[in-house]
Amino acid sequence: MKLKNKTIIVTGASSGIGEATAKTLAKAGANLVITARRTDRLNELKASIEKAGGRALVVTADVTSKKDWKKVIDETHKTFGKVDSLVNNAGLMPLSFVENLKTDEWDKMVDVNIKGVLNGVASVIPDMKETKSGHIINISSVAGRKIMPAGAVYCATKYAVRALSEGIRLEMGPKYNTKVTAIEPGFVDTELTNTITDEDVQEMMSQFEDLTPLQAQDIADSIYYALTQPEHSSVNEILIRPTNQD
Ligand code: NDP
Repeated sequence: MKLKNKTIIVTGASSGIGEATAKTLAKAGANLVITARRTDRLNELKASIEKAGGRALVVTADVTSKKDWKKVIDETHKTFGKVDSLVNNAGLMPLSFVENLKTDEWDKMVDVNIKGVLNGVASVIPDMKETKSGHIINISSVAGRKIMPAGAVYCATKYAVRALSEGIRLEMGPKYNTKVTAIEPGFVDTELTNTITDEDVQEMMSQFEDLTPLQAQDIADSIYYALTQPEHSSVNEILIRPTNQD
């Protein structure tokens, strides 16, 4: 129960990596604040966490809305007191070739994958300045280190998440003892590819068919590792790929 009574907000908790992370951290004793847009999925997760003896608060929220973030923080304070950690996990990946001009999807990726992360960071910084023991975990990607065709915009958002993580760490680490971790997964078996609408990309995705993908639990375990290191040790980046991914 290494995280006993720590209050942790997980965004994008309604599926995939967020859901596995919320279950893992709740099992380790943390108070979980689980957010996403699909309330039904969040309620199922809450029931499963509580059945296993854990604690969870559901707050339906869109990470692009500052108003929703205020609700997340207000309800967290009311139920659990201060925020200890934030896992900025919500994201989408509608890969497309630039010439196909899926500009609405570019906008969405920038809004959710970058501005959504920033909204989360802004929402928890006041608590972290006060506690001087906060931890922000941002989910970047291998795509935050390596650019792939059809991934110009997605990769740009994940590079941005790495840059932001390092920038926040540089300022908040020395001054407020805040830890910042960027998690950089390779291919994980989740619903993420469901957002792809560009038919040319579906064909390209067949190159991943021979991969043995990571499971959401593998990423949850990395997050748990980062969160449970001693106070003097701040894990800044974790890059984790399927063994047979190039
Ligand atoms: P999923 O599609 O399973 O999860 C994405 C989550 O983001 C969902 O819970 C979804 O919830 C939430 N979400 C999307 N848009 C919003 C929004 N506007 N407001 C709030 N929540 C939102 O995919 P993963 O679990 O794979 O993705 C989680 C993170 O991991 C993403 O940031 C992704 O980029 C990253 N990642 C994934 C990899 C992979 O191979 N799967 C590899 C590297 C990084 P809802 O729809 O209910 O709002």
